[in-house]
Order: sequence, then structure tokens, then C-alpha cells
Amino acid sequence: MRACVLTATGGIQHLHITDVPDAPAPKAGEVRVAIRAAALNHLDLFVTEGLPGGAKQLPHIVGADGAGVVETIGSDVVNVRPGDRVMFNPGISDYTCEFCQAGEHSLCVNYRLLGEHLSGTVAELVTVPAHNVVRVPPVSPELTWAEAAAFSLVTLTAWRMLVTRAQLKRGETALIWGIGGGVSLTALRIAKLLDARVIATSSDDAKLAAAKQLGADVTLNHRTQHVAQEVRALTNKRGVDVVVENVGAATWDDSLRCLRRGGRLVTCGATSGPQVSLDLRRLFWHHWSLLGSTMGNAAEYAEIVRRLGKGELRPIVDRVYPMAQARQAFERLSKGEQLGKVVVEVPTGRP
Ligand SMILES: [Zn+2]
Repeated sequence: MRACVLTATGGIQHLHITDVPDAPAPKAGEVRVAIRAAALNHLDLFVTEGLPGGAKQLPHIVGADGAGVVETIGSDVVNVRPGDRVMFNPGISDYTCEFCQAGEHSLCVNYRLLGEHLSGTVAELVTVPAHNVVRVPPVSPELTWAEAAAFSLVTLTAWRMLVTRAQLKRGETALIWGIGGGVSLTALRIAKLLDARVIATSSDDAKLAAAKQLGADVTLNHRTQHVAQEVRALTNKRGVDVVVENVGAATWDDSLRCLRRGGRLVTCGATSGPQVSLDLRRLFWHHWSLLGSTMGNAAEYAEIVRRLGKGELRPIVDRVYPMAQARQAFERLSKGEQLGKVVVEVPTGRP
């Protein structure tokens, strides 16, 4: 099969489109999907650079998100059939450990992600556990393959961050950094579904204009404006109820300056660097909650798919590239030019 593989770590120049052995035939409880589109995430850039836990074996097929047609099913698979249009939750859990049994699949002690620890989705075929796969819900107009591929990772991540972890409520105010990124953009839309106020930042005025269109109440250009000062002025020195972080080192201090007494900061990433400082006296004096979050559990995934079926949270696709130009797609992501998801379409040489 054709696939986009990483032949060495150190950057996207090591990505190549080449022939590799087909994804394995599905075992019991697994399905093999003929991929039609794969969406990129910042995670994929980290994998190309060489993540500590990632890509042990090279060449490695990249990509976490995808959608396609069920090609073959293993025994004991009842939720989908060959020919079904599906998308999948990219987080693979063992369904046996203490945390899985408690329903917290993204806390699984053997948690692995497609395209990071496992072979990825920018390929003609991928084999995954059947319980990670769902039918693309019927909505009008029908979801394109690019939209279906773009949905899962960022929506699951942002949903768990805002709804489960930060428990953002109607009427509260959330500060969301870097609105062009997939998680931030989805967080904005979820916050508006929850009837919260949103202050969104970007370094790009065009992205801020788009954020306004999507319901952001206030937008700040974090390159030309001092976010913490603006937020304190906007909230009468009170600060926001929730800060949504995935930037890390570059924004951390300002995130804390923006947080009200008793506020919650939720983070799922550290794109500018993972090391930050914290004055513990401010943490306990202000009763802050600092919340980590990554991906989400099966119930959360079912809920976001249900919402998608109701017409909510339809993914925003920035640009679609043919698989032959996958490296250009990665370049766009690495430059942070996108608004929404960058997607790679896989040729339909397969059924
Ligand atoms: Zn587990």
C-alpha cells in the first residue's frame, strides 16, 4: 500500500510517500479501514522531530486522525460492517487496566496513539480495534471525507478539557490562546455551545476576524497587545474563570496573570516548550486548579459523535492536499498558517 512514512527523525524533510507492506489483516475485535482522508495534528510534527515515546521503528507511518471505508472486519466485530463510512478515535486503550475499567480510557496504562506509538493513518489502509471506530453520522450536508478525518482528535481533546476537566459553565469567561490551532478553534466552538464568553488570542488579525465570526466575544492580538493587561481590564481586574492552554512556556505566566481567584487552567500541550515556573504561594492563595488533560474516554467520544450528528461541532477544514503532497501539508502546519485542520486525501485505489 502507499503511505506517508518517516524514514528518520529530525524533521519533515524525512517524510516520503512510498510503498510499504499492507496494514495487517484484522484479528478478532479489529477492523481494517481503507483510508480516504487523514487529518494532521501538531502531534505529527512532534513525531517527525522525534518524540521520546514515539516512532520506535523506522520507517514509520504518520498520522493520528482519519476516516474511510471499512474494508475487512475480524471475528467478534458487531459495531461496523464492510462498506461502512467510518472515522475513529485515535487513542488506543487496552480496555483491561484499572483506569479503562473505570471508564477512563485516555488514562490507560497502555495508552497509545495512532501515528505516534502505532502505525498511522496517512496510508491506504489502517488496522484498528473495532471499539475505536464509529460510523460517520448522517448530517446535512453530508460530511466530506476531509471533515470526517478532521473531527476526532481535536474535538475529543477540547471537549474533555472544557466540559470534563475545567467544567466551563454558562456565563463564565474562558481565555483561549492561539485560535488558529485545531484544539483552540474547537475549544472556542465548544465554549460557545456552553454559552460561555470567550476571549480568543492570535498573532494574526485574519484569524481573529474568523474567531469573531465563530462567536468569540473579544479578540486580542497577542503579538501587538499585552494579553494579561487587556484581560484584567476587560474583567475589571477579576480575571477569567478558565484559561485554555496548549502553548506552554511562552504563555504560562500570562495565563496565570489572567486567572481569577478560584479559577481553572486546563492544558493539553506545550508547543512553545514544556518547562514553566510556578509560585506555589500564588497557587494556594488564589485556590487555583491547574488541570492536565489529553484526548478523552469512550463516553466522551460517543458524546462528541452524538453532537456531530445533531449538526454541532462540524469540523473546520483549512486546506486539503493530495497524499503525493503530504509534505507540503506538514509545512503549512509547521508554519502555523492554518485556520482549522490541514487534511491529506488518500487516493481511492482501494474498495
Ligand atoms: Zn487500560
